[in-house]
Amino acid sequence: GYDDDRADYYLIKGDHIAYRYEIVSLLGKGSFGQVCLCYDWKRHEQTALKIIRNKKKFHQQATVEIRVLKTLLENDIEDKNNIVRIRNYFIFRNHICMTFELLGFNLYELLKNNKYEGLSLTLIRKFAIQLLVALKYIKDENIVHCDLKPENILLRSNDKAFIKVIDFGSSCFLNERVYTYIQSRFYRAPEIILGIPYTMAIDMWSFGCIMFELYTGQPLFPGESEHEQLILIMEVCGVPPANVLEQSTKFDMFFSENNEPKIIQNKHGVMRYPGTKNLEQLLNCSNEQFFDFIKKCLDFDPETRITPVEAMEHPWIIDSGQKSKKKIHLNRRPKN
Ligand code: ATP
Ligand code: MG
Ligand code: MG
Repeated sequence: GYDDDRADYYLIKGDHIAYRYEIVSLLGKGSFGQVCLCYDWKRHEQTALKIIRNKKKFHQQATVEIRVLKTLLENDIEDKNNIVRIRNYFIFRNHICMTFELLGFNLYELLKNNKYEGLSLTLIRKFAIQLLVALKYIKDENIVHCDLKPENILLRSNDKAFIKVIDFGSSCFLNERVYTYIQSRFYRAPEIILGIPYTMAIDMWSFGCIMFELYTGQPLFPGESEHEQLILIMEVCGVPPANVLEQSTKFDMFFSENNEPKIIQNKHGVMRYPGTKNLEQLLNCSNEQFFDFIKKCLDFDPETRITPVEAMEHPWIIDSGQKSKKKIHLNRRPKN
């Protein structure tokens, strides 16, 4: 049933949306709304329908999402940049709705189906190249994705190693930045936490975190709060350099007067200290180029952090290209 006062639309199998889209099943739920598999009786094909929550804040952001998706669609006629394609959008009973090409599992589901054991380096590299194509394109269009994470990267179909980036629901054009509270916490760049004006370099930070997670199966920085997020980052990356800290508008929240990080206990009573964990050990991968690739994504300074173009030219991407003629398996090769 439907209730005007509620934030959510209750989806019922078999219902028709806008006299056209028959609801088949639920594909996913996010903070902004629900996505369901529908049959489009006009085009006679399956489609993914995203129904945005009926609240002003979500409504406004969804109009930006549509503008971003339209821009990315119209400037990529040949569909070469690994971005989900929007097909239609409309308002149905006060809910903004968008329809998309139907894609497969997201990368979080892929990791989960693989018992969180991680994926093979060969497969991760295939995903990395496709993500870099997408991130370069997004950047060239002056867009920041702002929510890159495994749940927002989908397999094109469940049996092939081709992916697309979805969910531009937090995205913005670089010249229209408004929200400072962006990115899902685990993948949040330090400049967002520290309150520093951001660029698309925040997407490269998230990208680095995702690369680690695809290999190990576990998130690199699973912070329980914004403060713990920064502590987890500092534990591995050390204290941010002075030129970054100088720009922070939230310095007092995380550092004391003598410039020492404020150390907090997490809910298990654990205290963590800057520079006490080693990224290479955590990654536990014999491929040094892969480690170097991730390290360059996790640069505190957005100005020197690796860009999509630079990343495409990194030895891990270039060199292993000649070697990897092996068949791609979705399962991870044993660590050596
Ligand atoms: P978030 O909480 O990340 O902001 P959201 O509410 O903005 O999420 P989406 O990320 O767009 O919603 O979609 C939620 C989930 O629905 C995705 O993680 C994915 O599993 C599924 N999904 C979205 N779009 C598609 C699609 N085109 N094809 C198949 N599944 C999809
Ligand atoms: Mg999402
Ligand atoms: Mg979203």
